[in-house]
Amino acid sequence: MSTNCTAPPTLLWLRRDLRLSDHPGWQKAVEGGGPVIPVFILDPIFDAYGAAPKWRLGESLAALDADLRARGSRLLLRRGDAAAVLDAVLDETGARRVVWSRLYDSASIERDRKIKASLKERGIDVESVNSSLLFEPWTVETNTGGFYKVYSPFWRAVAQRDLAEPIVAPGDLAPPASWPASDDLASWRLGAAINRGAEIVARHAVVGETAARDRLDVFIDDRIDRYKSERNVPSAHACSGLSENLTYGEISPHTAWHAGVRARTERGHAAEAEHFLKELVWREFAYHLIYHTPQIETENWREGWDAFPWRDDNEDAERWRRGMTGVEMVDAGMREMYVTGVMHNRTRMLTASFLTKHLMTHWKVGEAWFRECLIDWDPASNAMGWQWTAGSGPDAAPYFRIFNPDTQADKFDSDRSYRHRFLDASGPGAHPDATAFFDAAPRSWDICPQGPYPEPVIGLAEGRHKALKAYEARSA
Ligand code: FAD
Repeated sequence: MSTNCTAPPTLLWLRRDLRLSDHPGWQKAVEGGGPVIPVFILDPIFDAYGAAPKWRLGESLAALDADLRARGSRLLLRRGDAAAVLDAVLDETGARRVVWSRLYDSASIERDRKIKASLKERGIDVESVNSSLLFEPWTVETNTGGFYKVYSPFWRAVAQRDLAEPIVAPGDLAPPASWPASDDLASWRLGAAINRGAEIVARHAVVGETAARDRLDVFIDDRIDRYKSERNVPSAHACSGLSENLTYGEISPHTAWHAGVRARTERGHAAEAEHFLKELVWREFAYHLIYHTPQIETENWREGWDAFPWRDDNEDAERWRRGMTGVEMVDAGMREMYVTGVMHNRTRMLTASFLTKHLMTHWKVGEAWFRECLIDWDPASNAMGWQWTAGSGPDAAPYFRIFNPDTQADKFDSDRSYRHRFLDASGPGAHPDATAFFDAAPRSWDICPQGPYPEPVIGLAEGRHKALKAYEARSA
């Protein structure tokens, strides 16, 4: 469609959908016929992000701006209350139409509802679309019309659905008659809180739409054939790594889904590709839950857990945060997160189990720390993952099933290469990623690579026993 430069522009309000391809929002905005002004607003919801996701958001915004400039456009950046900013930009540009992609956490839903109502009152045309999910939460219903609380039937309900092929990116983007003033991204200082960790994590982050697409291609070409068998081995590098891209919308789930479907049908990797599709649907399930039960972010999802004697934040939890529990597999996971901004799913489960069970500390303490440190932080998956592991969540691992970090190490890190990578920080065989942990860690922690490795914060048998006793007392 050619652009009518005399038609009023459309504002495309971008949030966690920072890409151009397979983006129904772009498609809708371009259909308006006039120029499109893409705008990102650093409002209180984004401003409250943890240190690592906030830094990573800045990287994503910079990548998108570069992509837009290559097409003759640019990203308009503004800071403040989203409603007030949109009002101002509409006034400045003469735009009469706003398009955005829907979000599903309660804070965003509440904000968006209010904004939609007030824009409509002003006579502005507002359209919201789905650019972030395969199956929007209200489109998957049980036989009785309710929502799913268990993953397997959710998967069965969606597995056979036909999904639209990804939409191509818009071509050259005609600019508006004049660009409204934009904030300078650097002035937002999105990396201030992650501080010296930024330089370390940046070595591992894979930022932007093109890099995300390449990452998917490499995964499908080189690794999907061993995904099912090796995805639980942290050192195997058998997973896609796409979570940091999906979370900012640098790639669409549809793009990943269709690549998986092609691998399943055309490349003879049926079981492996099916497993990948199932994992993508775990993300969908998390959004299904956060939409239908928004309290999953802040409250025990399952009844009866409020009385559980979890500890509030405590010194043992501080050792957990610092990767200093003296339990190797736990510390390796916690340090991996600090150095790379992500943690392997196996060690996410294990570190979360250790905190909530061996250390009897509330899942909210761990959820908050992951929210601070993960560059793939996702409000739905993080909340679900924590409550699942703690036992208080939907379809949860039963509380009495307690991961033993040593057994897990024997099983999933038998050659110790994962622990070597993140724990062996000094001496002739030191690994650079293990050493980097000490460069990334805040100076106030006062730790150095040459320091002794700590004694275990708790005996594994003792921790397990205490946790089980508390669980039995609760169930009695
Ligand atoms: P792959 O194995 O390649 O899977 C492909 C995609 O499927 C992932 O990118 C992700 O989008 C989705 N996926 C896979 N496993 C899960 C899962 N268990 N739950 C939801 N989606 C899944 N994931 C996040 O994206 N953000 C989080 O903040 C987050 N916090 C978690 C906290 C805990 C305590 C736990 C146990 C899990 C958490 N997860 C989170 C889920 C999972 O650990 C990551 O999605 C996964 O490790 C990402 O690696 P990958 O992209 O290589 O995944």
